[in-house]
Amino acid sequence: MPVKQICKDRNPPESSGFRPDEGLREMKTIIRKMMQPDRKTAEEAARIWRAGGLVAFPTETVYGLGGNGLDASASEKIYAAKCRPSDNPLILHIAERSQLDGLVRKITPQAEKLMKTFWPGPLTLIFEKSEQVPLETTGGLQTAAIRMPSHPVAHYLLQTAGIPIAAPSANRSGRPSPTTAHHVIEDLDGRIDMIIDGGDVGIGVESTIVDLTGDIPCLLRPGYITVEDLEAAVGKIDLDPAIYHQVSANVHPKAPGMKYRHYAPKADMAIVQGYDEAVVSYINRQIALHPDQKIGVLATTENASKYQGGLVLCVGDQRNMAEVAHNLFGALRRFDDLGVDQIYSESFTTKGEGLAVMNRLMKAAGHTVIRLEGADNDSHWM
Ligand code: AMP
Ligand code: MG
Repeated sequence: MPVKQICKDRNPPESSGFRPDEGLREMKTIIRKMMQPDRKTAEEAARIWRAGGLVAFPTETVYGLGGNGLDASASEKIYAAKCRPSDNPLILHIAERSQLDGLVRKITPQAEKLMKTFWPGPLTLIFEKSEQVPLETTGGLQTAAIRMPSHPVAHYLLQTAGIPIAAPSANRSGRPSPTTAHHVIEDLDGRIDMIIDGGDVGIGVESTIVDLTGDIPCLLRPGYITVEDLEAAVGKIDLDPAIYHQVSANVHPKAPGMKYRHYAPKADMAIVQGYDEAVVSYINRQIALHPDQKIGVLATTENASKYQGGLVLCVGDQRNMAEVAHNLFGALRRFDDLGVDQIYSESFTTKGEGLAVMNRLMKAAGHTVIRLEGADNDSHWM
């Protein structure tokens, strides 16, 4: 399927490769608070979805930008609102297990086990798609990504709508995924019909994605549900090399979205690896050497107070990767707001939720790593 490079922008950045949408008319975006399931607002959202419109809503991972996943033109509107290349498929969100049957060709015992263990929750599974799912929703692929969110507001909205909702993260392409309604408003106000504000999300990084179309389940994107969790449920799983490696002639990610430069803060970013003392003193040296620059530091609780200058944002404790994951995208957006010239980030473990954190950080940094003496020579991240 050709990549339709249209986005809802009169002046898309030249580097994005998008054509401007000359026909753009700003729309009035309705903003509603919904901290708990509420019937009136859910019915309003369902009406918009059934009429082919777009509603952003909170999930337990990040905010999603939803449209009717079985309506090709609603999917096209999602791509246009986000300026998302149309070969980057959307995840279908469902409320009930019974909705799955019509969407996929077969459900393997491994799929049953994963759904029983992790649904509803932050796990997306890839199946062979049925005829019902339009190619516009799957970016031209014969497979479909499906997830059942556990967030009570998301679940209620999906149940009220009664249709599978295609929902990528509710950010403009290339920006960090939104973890608050404010982030969604920053990126999509005037481009979509409605934003449902359900407060700060719980997890903060996108769902774990597992491809079930081969013999062995394959992790395409790490998330809150970890490799260790998945292997405890179904035994050995493969890891798509694109999780660690920069996309190149030899590395083709199985999740098309992983090939795009994601989560890019406006400033250059480098990840500094080494013992804590070495990392802190390297970053302090950079701050001292460049008094004319605004330097941002993405720091852990253990080290945050040791930086002498710079704009330090603390994302959490080194032993609590769930906390770091929760705070990561908000911090990257904050650096943009602060207008920093350069960001240095501490490095994190790749165990547990740490793999999701390091995968997103590596993308944000364009794989720029400064390895200091004593750095754990983790050659995965090349
Ligand atoms: P987002 O919803 O913005 O987090 O993006 C959805 C992610 O799921 C992207 O990285 C997509 O490439 C990936 N994805 C969706 N459908 C498929 C599929 N059928 N096969 C592989 N990856 C998929
Ligand atoms: Mg996204």
